[in-house]
Amino acid sequence: MSASSSQPADPKYAWWELTRAAQQKRSAEERVADFLEIYGPYDEETARAQARRCVQCPEPACVAGCPLGNRIPEWLALTAEGQFLEAAALLHSTSSLPEICARVCPADRKCEDMCILNGRAEPVSISAIEQFLNEYAFQHGGVEEAPATPNGLKVAVIGSGPGGLTCADVLSRRGYAVTVFDWRATPGGLLVSGTPAFRLERSIVERRITLLEARGVVFRLGVLLGEEVGYGDLRDGFDAIFLGFGARKPADLEVPGRELPGVAHVLDLLVQDHPGTAVGQGRIDVRDKRVVVIGGGDMALAGVRTAIRGARLVTCVYRRDEAELPCSRREYENAVEEGAQFVFLVMPAAVLGDAAGGVKGLQLRRTELGAVDAQGRRSWSELPGTEFEIPADLILLALGFAPVPLPAEHLFGSLERNADGSLRVDANLMTSEPGVFAGGDLVRGPSTVLEVVRDARRAAQGIHRFLLPRLVDLAESAT
Ligand SMILES: Cc1cc2nc3c(=O)[nH]c(=O)nc-3n(C[C@H](O)[C@H](O)[C@H](O)COP(=O)(O)OP(=O)(O)OC[C@H]3O[C@@H](n4cnc5c(N)ncnc54)[C@H](O)[C@@H]3O)c2cc1C
Ligand code: SF4
Repeated sequence: MSASSSQPADPKYAWWELTRAAQQKRSAEERVADFLEIYGPYDEETARAQARRCVQCPEPACVAGCPLGNRIPEWLALTAEGQFLEAAALLHSTSSLPEICARVCPADRKCEDMCILNGRAEPVSISAIEQFLNEYAFQHGGVEEAPATPNGLKVAVIGSGPGGLTCADVLSRRGYAVTVFDWRATPGGLLVSGTPAFRLERSIVERRITLLEARGVVFRLGVLLGEEVGYGDLRDGFDAIFLGFGARKPADLEVPGRELPGVAHVLDLLVQDHPGTAVGQGRIDVRDKRVVVIGGGDMALAGVRTAIRGARLVTCVYRRDEAELPCSRREYENAVEEGAQFVFLVMPAAVLGDAAGGVKGLQLRRTELGAVDAQGRRSWSELPGTEFEIPADLILLALGFAPVPLPAEHLFGSLERNADGSLRVDANLMTSEPGVFAGGDLVRGPSTVLEVVRDARRAAQGIHRFLLPRLVDLAESAT
């Protein structure tokens, strides 16, 4: 929807007469035949009109709902006035990967869920306007690329996921010489190996990496921390270290039949290349299969929507009900539109094998919900004697992740841990070893891109504070 010619004098009341405009979306039939992004961006007129729906709350709940504290009403006000580059600059002031966050952030569970308009009308389309602003900035030279003046100090970043990229962004802007190490050949971490391309096209991540390289960040890929590069190398060659190598040990399912060859982790499907229109070129072939995905989070939905691009039937089974699904609402609706089926209030009881040693189905047991627990979610319990079976040729597990063990090398292995085994860091995200910082999934366990970006920005500020005395010494010795 675009702005009407008879706009009210006070933009605060635009929401009253202007409904929320949906982003253009390709039809389900068209999009299941490829891995391209499914949403089209707002045009300038729509972005301006939709930004006017914001009532400019004095205490904006949307900001409170944003892990990065994005200055949402401020950039919405600038957008409404057509000051797109200024609005994009504000976005960049709180986020290092705004064009990526706008695509993968479950806004319907965060800022848009908190928007004051909820209950009276539909919330302001914050995510769609953010996407528009970022693309506008990239197209109109509104994204800073120039290298900063070198400050003489070097930082090693281990892991090129959103945590590593963010830390590299903040520090390279301050003139640090940043080298990012990753054992994979393609940088981006789970942004490229876990997030399906129809949610985040690879070219978007590549554009950000190219921009960091233009700013002088060096990527050393195919380098495994603890083997090709050791702690001594990092200590000798760098003034500080950021560890951001994620948490990539998938949680497992403990039921009879788990060992059958037709059971795999969702990530094993997601890391495959999907060059064609159907998934099947990699180790896991979903073509024409009946696929069951176990789980209800973003990872499960990524698996469901990837598998449906090739499988005969995709069913997602989840232990709580539809209202308790932890994934983005939008992703759930997209999956349903694309033909996925959902079975709620069930727990896997056994994987059923066939005579040839493969998988023929999944036995499920019904569950019921109880009181709200300490985390604010309904508890659940199994209902014995309610077992039933659904057919399956392939079962994909999306049960979350366990922390990865630190590389075996003596120092990283001796970094202090909390009682739950997670890495101990202080308020600046420095570990027990001075100069060694850590953030992202590695520290907080499986989380979201926005939380990881927030941690990494904090860690980068911590690194800068830690190295300030050295910078002062360098400046004094130069005068
Ligand atoms: C399937 C899936 C879907 C998701 N969907 C969403 C979503 O929709 N929205 C959202 O906000 N979040 C989502 N997430 C979560 C999000 O992707 C992660 O929270 C985020 O990527 C973690 O960032 P990170 O930088 O800490 O680690 P990662 O992204 O895991 O990156 C770590 C990097 O470190 C490298 N590395 C590991 N060990 C070593 C080593 N020893 N030496 C050198 N390099 C090493 C890895 O190769 C990797 O590139 C999803 C996660 C998954 C798995
Ligand atoms: S809560 Fe909604 S209406 Fe209020 S400032 Fe945020 S986006 Fe605008």
